[in-house]
Amino acid sequence: MRLEKTFRFEAAHWLPHVPEGHKCGRMHGHSFRVTVVVEGEVDQGSGWVIDYGIIKKAFAPLEQQLDHYCLNEIDGLENPTSEVLAQWIWDKLKPTLTQLFEVAVEETCTCRCVYRG
Ligand SMILES: [Zn+2]
Repeated sequence: MRLEKTFRFEAAHWLPHVPEGHKCGRMHGHSFRVTVVVEGEVDQGSGWVIDYGIIKKAFAPLEQQLDHYCLNEIDGLENPTSEVLAQWIWDKLKPTLTQLFEVAVEETCTCRCVYRG
C-alpha cells in the first residue's frame, strides 16, 4: 500500500549550467509541488500504513528551509534542477521516514520529476 502526501512551497532559482541565453539561466520563481510517497503494509490494529501526520512532520523542516528562499543559496542546491532537488529531499527524509518510496517534484503543472532513491 502506498500513501502520498503533497506539499507546496514558493521559491526562486536559476540554473547555472544551462547554455547561455537559456531562459532557466535567469532568476525566476516556481510554485513547487512535492509529493512524498511511503510504502508499507497496512497495520491490522490501526488500519493504516503510517499516520499522514508523520509525513507532514518529517517534511516541515524542509519546507521551512525552502519556502520563499532562493534555492541556489541552500547547501546542496547550488544547481537546483528538479532532479537535484528531488534527491536532496530524499536524502533529508529517508533517515527518519524509513518507509519512503518516492519523491516527486513539480516545477510547473506539466513537468514532474520522480526519484525512488
Ligand atoms: Zn525554473
